[in-house]
Amino acid sequence: MGTKGTAGSGTGTGISRRSVLIGGAVTAVGTAALARDPLKRAWWRLPGVEKPRTPGAVDYARAEWAAASEANWRRADRPDDYGIDRVVIHVTQGSFSSAVRAFQDPGHRAAAHYVVRKDGHVTQMIRELDVAFHAGNRSYNERSVGIEHEGFVERPQDFTAAMYGASARLTAAICGRYGIPVDREHIIGHVEVPGADHTDPGRGWDWDRYLKLVRRAATAPASEKA
Ligand SMILES: [Zn+2]
Repeated sequence: MGTKGTAGSGTGTGISRRSVLIGGAVTAVGTAALARDPLKRAWWRLPGVEKPRTPGAVDYARAEWAAASEANWRRADRPDDYGIDRVVIHVTQGSFSSAVRAFQDPGHRAAAHYVVRKDGHVTQMIRELDVAFHAGNRSYNERSVGIEHEGFVERPQDFTAAMYGASARLTAAICGRYGIPVDREHIIGHVEVPGADHTDPGRGWDWDRYLKLVRRAATAPASEKA
């Protein structure tokens, strides 16, 4: 939401706001500043204009950056070239460090945007701008952000309170960024991706608990968000 056609509506907003302000009793300085601001923020939303990137930058303030191998993702310009309307939940079937190593291996041919450790630490390995190869389905890769969780599908005790909480805050931030509804239609397991041959996150993943935490994080005051 709010990601499609923003170039046009952004310009329109600027113009209409300016004319409204000129009609009102606002100083020239205030008018110029207000009119310029939305344009400055929206210039990169124009089609064909790539957003500026800073090496090592993360999309989620609480995440630490560790780059995945470029073989495991595809450069894109989301949400402008592909809208983002899904978060896909994974379980690594291994340790946090083995998942990070695998995603840095060009031969692995897969990686997710984020990996969440049992203690709640979050590592970002691929920018949300880019298409990560995590869902085993091209269009779902293009429309989603993938989050891996340390542990094993058959060991629900691996899914700690710290992990649920950290992951929920991350998912809430992603949903907020792209206007994704916080529900089970839009926050899905890898197993629910059409054509997926993976079973994660498995029966041990507590969806009710997770969605409750995501909802709580999504409505938390800004000071408690990342
Ligand atoms: Zn998976």
